[in-house]
Amino acid sequence: MNQPLQITLKTLTPLWTGGVGQTCDRLHETGLIGSLRWWYEALVRGLGGYACDPTSEKRCEYDPKKPDPPEKQLCAACYLFGCTGWARKFRLRVSNGQSLLPERNILIPSGRKHQTKKGERAGGWFVFNESRIGEIVLDLIPLRDANLEPICTILALISRHASLGPKGASGYGVIQAKDIVSDLAWLQRLDGQSPQRNQTLPDFRDFFFARFQFSEPKNREWWQTINGIRQAVNGQLEDGSSPSPLQQSKEKLEQLVNQGVLPLAPTIRNWLRYEWKHKLDSAATHFVFGEAQGVCPKCYQPGIKPDKKDPDKKKWCPNCRFIFDKDKEIPATASKLQVSYAYRINNQQWEFRIWGWIPCAGHPKERDAFLTQLQSALQGDSIWKFVFRQNNITPHMNEWHMLSCDQANGQAYLSDLLSGGNK
Ligand SMILES: [Zn+2]
Ligand SMILES: [Zn+2]
Repeated sequence: MNQPLQITLKTLTPLWTGGVGQTCDRLHETGLIGSLRWWYEALVRGLGGYACDPTSEKRCEYDPKKPDPPEKQLCAACYLFGCTGWARKFRLRVSNGQSLLPERNILIPSGRKHQTKKGERAGGWFVFNESRIGEIVLDLIPLRDANLEPICTILALISRHASLGPKGASGYGVIQAKDIVSDLAWLQRLDGQSPQRNQTLPDFRDFFFARFQFSEPKNREWWQTINGIRQAVNGQLEDGSSPSPLQQSKEKLEQLVNQGVLPLAPTIRNWLRYEWKHKLDSAATHFVFGEAQGVCPKCYQPGIKPDKKDPDKKKWCPNCRFIFDKDKEIPATASKLQVSYAYRINNQQWEFRIWGWIPCAGHPKERDAFLTQLQSALQGDSIWKFVFRQNNITPHMNEWHMLSCDQANGQAYLSDLLSGGNK
């Protein structure tokens, strides 16, 4: 497939690609390419190929003076997406869609407050007004003999089960790729062996995917009682305070709901992280749920400070009083669980997705048991009582996909994920 490829995406939840600062004034190709590369690496690793760790010392570099051809010097991901000395094999152009809201972000508060130099601030997650909705056209232009089939496979997989772009954990990036045909012939060029499930880097066999639906209640204001959204509607936390940047956002949220977008993700993540008795130790909790700032290597709590006696070399944890070398601090970690906003699929029904990457190697130690426990928590009552409050909404889990650690066949898992249904 050496032809230019045009793919039209329809957003179901807004797409966010990052940009300058916290804005997303337009769709930035780099954010989308980063996301596509991450998926491609995961697919390659799960299907018997090799994808290097682009952040490590062992990442690929192309040296034209060496006798080996590029495909021998580079891993599959670097060969397609580029690396030092080797250009990406395709160009991406992307149209802009429309911004979600005309002005200002909406904070969905977590309920926690943080002390900062500027005073008390409300913690939470933003609905970015400049995230993009509508129809988005991707133009993929192959350079030289590039094969773009993998990109189609990735978009088909994302379209059915996951989300696109860097902020999937916050609800963004559920898209529908129109008329996409995923031809899996490109898989034959990978080794084809089923490698062991021992990778600490993303391997798509370690991904799980769930999909939920619920009926919209008759009461028109049903969404206003949802935890987090209720506080954003009123512009007040439970204790009546209104720390910045929390603002009364009833009209804006109403506008979103009318557009078929309901920012449910923060509340679900809040429950999973803080209310659910998941039995993970603190290291595994940190790995699974992530943290936007560095944490203490002993108790995994944020808020660490320079040590007064040796502020250049040592840090101190106010939570457990541990003093440690600066370079032992555990850096900010991305959430492994992705939770989408809810999106309206017809007059009566809403849908959302929860998916993620939980590896068989590393944290948590009992990976399959953890996922089974997660599955049953998501089918229980307590989470939905917490999220929806008095509305008696219990979303139905329509789909659940995971591959237990004793299974290795990535091809079979991929075919299963791509078959059935139209989404
Ligand atoms: Zn590489
Ligand atoms: Zn500590």
